[in-house]
Amino acid sequence: MAGVFDDQEPASFGSGWISGTASVFLGALGLGAVACLHLPEALTWPEVRAIYSLWWIRPLVGTVIGAAFVLGFLSALLRRRKVLGLTGMTLALGASLAGGASVSVEGAPASGIGLGLDWFLLNLLLLALVFVPMERFFPQWPAQSTFRTGWTTDLMHFLVSHLLVQLSAWLTLVPATAALRYALWPDVQAVVSSLPWVVQFGAVLVLADLGEYTMHRLFHVVPALWRFHAIHHSSEAVDWLAGSRLHLVDVVLTRGFTFVPIALLGFADGPVYAYLVFVSFHAVFIHANVRFRFGRAEQLIVTPRFHHWHHSAQPEAVDKNFAVHLPWIDRLFGTYYCPPGQWPSKYGLGRGEIPDGYWSHLTWPFRSRRR
Ligand SMILES: [Zn+2]
Ligand SMILES: [Zn+2]
Repeated sequence: MAGVFDDQEPASFGSGWISGTASVFLGALGLGAVACLHLPEALTWPEVRAIYSLWWIRPLVGTVIGAAFVLGFLSALLRRRKVLGLTGMTLALGASLAGGASVSVEGAPASGIGLGLDWFLLNLLLLALVFVPMERFFPQWPAQSTFRTGWTTDLMHFLVSHLLVQLSAWLTLVPATAALRYALWPDVQAVVSSLPWVVQFGAVLVLADLGEYTMHRLFHVVPALWRFHAIHHSSEAVDWLAGSRLHLVDVVLTRGFTFVPIALLGFADGPVYAYLVFVSFHAVFIHANVRFRFGRAEQLIVTPRFHHWHHSAQPEAVDKNFAVHLPWIDRLFGTYYCPPGQWPSKYGLGRGEIPDGYWSHLTWPFRSRRR
């Protein structure tokens, strides 16, 4: 996929590359959105549909398709080879011919089973708008392109985990539901849910990260679990999209067991949802290729530099920095490694033993018997 657009022409500002790439991206997004409007019961997630409204989705879809046209046209004007611009305009034309933003939507059922294509498109648009410019303007590794080795594999991880969001949300709740069958503490739950909102949010953050620390460390030290988690560490270029490189077994087990204490203690929905919004941004941010400095806050909250050390192939950093939000948990348990001001010089497993590609990643843990 990356090779199709690799026309050896400059990719600098004014070369038509940025407008062309943005046009292809938005054209594909527009086409996916029109598919969601046509087939909401198959392609959208009822729980997600409840948080957005067609009132603003239609203008958004129209804007995305229009922008794909304009940027594709601009790219075709600026660039000698027209493949980027024409591809973007063709995708936008396809989306318009298929009905564009004005496809009529029959009342989709409020429950049922569907793929989370809408969830994928909304998240991809939002995260790409935030993180691609952030990584281009403030890169820690300026030579690392947005389209670095393995980006299509990571996009597939991002796509599949979003399409299967209903299944993984259901599986995540299995351990918590089982725990609640054996331990119901109405008095404790009444006290916890009446605490001030900010106290509950802080408690959820600490409890979740203690759970994440435990599961993450187990994934590193138990060979049968490491095979699944090794997929996350196989990336030799760490950026916002590389954070999506997670085996589904890793995702479901980590989230499932992290959620048990939160469910048992009976926190109110508001602070729990606020934590879910926070984690979905923070987990992407800590992988980002950005050089921001945070001073003393680095001791309080996990930063990209701290988590990049977790992905380092250097021996001194292996099996360090398991916390996802609170670095002092690693200090507490003696697994902290983050030399001031320094960044790792090499990422990944250092052995290239896991073949690239989504399907390889999905099946490798079941085939491999070695650590
Ligand atoms: Zn890890
Ligand atoms: Zn990571």
